[in-house]
Amino acid sequence: MSEVRDLVIVGSGPAGYTAAIYASRAQLNPLIYEGSVTAGGALMNTTEVENFPGFVDGVMGPDLMESMRKQAKRFGAELITDDIVEMDLTGDIKTLVDGSGNTIKAKSVILATGSAYREIGLVNEKRLSGHGVSWCATCDGFFFRDQEIAVVGGGDSAVEEATFLTKFASKVVLIHRRDSLRASKIMAERAAANPKIEFVWNTEVIDVLGESKVTGLKLRNTIDGNITERSFTGLFVAIGHIPRSELLVNQITLNADGYVEVEGRSTRTNLTGVFACGDLVDYTYRQAITAAGSGCQAALDAEKFLSHH
Ligand code: NAP
Repeated sequence: MSEVRDLVIVGSGPAGYTAAIYASRAQLNPLIYEGSVTAGGALMNTTEVENFPGFVDGVMGPDLMESMRKQAKRFGAELITDDIVEMDLTGDIKTLVDGSGNTIKAKSVILATGSAYREIGLVNEKRLSGHGVSWCATCDGFFFRDQEIAVVGGGDSAVEEATFLTKFASKVVLIHRRDSLRASKIMAERAAANPKIEFVWNTEVIDVLGESKVTGLKLRNTIDGNITERSFTGLFVAIGHIPRSELLVNQITLNADGYVEVEGRSTRTNLTGVFACGDLVDYTYRQAITAAGSGCQAALDAEKFLSHH
């Protein structure tokens, strides 16, 4: 493709699709690379979303993404269900290569590749995902009312998830592989004072039990190697996130955890004409609605940039 596009959006999900809606309405004729297997982003792996404003009775995550996608298309966004596999974002004209070998040139790029939940890496963790194994307490906690559930991890996310889950669960057992938390003191103290949270230290989850839904966990004590089984109806994995920024290393400023750094409250990266939004930038809120909001900001920032160049 020899044409130079005004704007290419890399990634979908609430951030990418919202950026696409705003950019197409601004007549920037955006080209959106949705991803091949990850099109629609993390919400494609959730069931009911009850906290996205405007849906009184909730909405299924994949339906919400399909609606956003259609809304972007309605205004002329060009959607491609493929990955970008190479990017050169330096210079005035950015060059991107997709999974089919096409080269795309653009004056501006919005990065919305999101982040992936870190997984423990167990076969049954994956198999029972959505059937008791979850990575999102705010999405799925409600379904565990009056049940005994486990959270694995020792950082702020695990402590935050465990604390949030006590609203629903009868008991939350926080399982951590070491004998102290990495989480901030104030959050750890709050969790320690919560009578519904039990801490299980020096313990790894080595298997998730259950045929069609989670019935328990197999645990190994990291000190004496002792293996035990314990009944749970749910497992929340909160062992960190991995921003999908691998293609950006060495060309864009990333923080120590690999998230793209942006200027203040804007979506501007250190590279002229390159904007970033959603979970690729946000390690704090990580909600569909905040990702959508930052996608809107990215489109407005890109529009302003293009009007000045
Ligand atoms: P994190 O701080 O990197 O903590 C990840 C935790 O998971 C660590 O305790 C780690 O154990 C454990 N872990 C990692 N891999 C594991 C594995 N394979 N099996 C078992 N455990 C494993 O990640 P995070 O909690 O998601 O936080 C990420 C960032 O977001 C942090 O900067 C955090 O402060 C911030 N955050 C802030 C808030 C808030 O302030 N409200 C809320 C959430 C997140 P080790 O301790 O042994 O390494």
